[in-house]
Amino acid sequence: MSKYWSQVVQKLEPYVPGEQPKDKTYIKLNTNENPYPPSPKVLEAMRETANENLRLYPTPTCDELRNCIAEYHGLKKEQIFVGNGSDEVLAFSFLAFFNPNSPILFPDITYSFYPVYCAMFHIDYRLITLKEDFSIPVEEFFANNGGIIFPNPNAPTGKAVTLQDIEEILKHNRDQVVIVDEAYIDFGGVSALTLIDTYSNLLIVQTLSKSRSLAGMRVGFAMGHSDLIEALDRVKNSINSYTLDRVALAGAMESFKEESYFQDTRQKVIATREQTVALLENMGFQVIPSSANFIFISHSLFAAEELYQQLRKEGILVRYFNKERINNFLRVSIGTDEEMECFIKKIAEIVG
Ligand code: PMP
Repeated sequence: MSKYWSQVVQKLEPYVPGEQPKDKTYIKLNTNENPYPPSPKVLEAMRETANENLRLYPTPTCDELRNCIAEYHGLKKEQIFVGNGSDEVLAFSFLAFFNPNSPILFPDITYSFYPVYCAMFHIDYRLITLKEDFSIPVEEFFANNGGIIFPNPNAPTGKAVTLQDIEEILKHNRDQVVIVDEAYIDFGGVSALTLIDTYSNLLIVQTLSKSRSLAGMRVGFAMGHSDLIEALDRVKNSINSYTLDRVALAGAMESFKEESYFQDTRQKVIATREQTVALLENMGFQVIPSSANFIFISHSLFAAEELYQQLRKEGILVRYFNKERINNFLRVSIGTDEEMECFIKKIAEIVG
């Protein structure tokens, strides 16, 4: 705390990302990164773009990338907004669509960045308590509200929300924006994309960080009615006109052309997840059914915090949240088959 801090900064409780340690080489299963590298063609496109043209600003409207994503998803460019990681797209969305004194709704167990944005932008919120099995109590989202946001699949549980449930929520909330954060959708969930043309209050946010192996590049995007996209543009152009650099734009575009690479890596992650789940269940772990590139696990005989510490000592990083209702769970990102074999071996020794 310093006397030079603004009142806003003094009150902030920033989000704490999973650690990126430097002390030794860990098997990193703590930040839901993709264990596979980006497609070689993506890297090539980025290298080629790192040339003398970097003296020029990138196109502020990002038309080429927006066209490319629009074409990929069968939409129009005017229905696409791109930003510096989906975290930025989400932050802009909170500012664009939610208001002070009109509480928004999101699950009690969810992405912990949402309350941080609320504090930053003075938006009130009310938590919807997930059911015992971590599924969404759909009717609770019919209550009076100033907007809604939830991830599908949810984080950190990995549990998917059905398209029918999303549509029910949209039907009951036509006067405010419903944001579906689809950061992990490519690992098994059903996207709400098909509902975009019917519900002008639906905003879908996706990222290239997970299924496209580009967390280090920082590109996320939103899809929705052109009026919603215009609001996001207004926010962006009031903060930073050039949120995506030339190199990232080139890499992102190439990534959407690399369909078979994308399909291969995402299928590999899904297959490894299913193998891992089966092995953990054999060891007595409760595993929440996951549609994501991570699993949420708990053991009745071993405290999650203890398991987290022991795995860390063994060189394996997973994520532990010391938070009510989930403080006996570990979130484990899905690595390569080799990494998961090592994880299974170590955890078997611990609970053995
Ligand atoms: N939404 C959810 C639910 C996430 O878990 C994450 C990753 N921390 C993000 C959005 C943000 O991802 P990125 O900014 O890398 O696109």
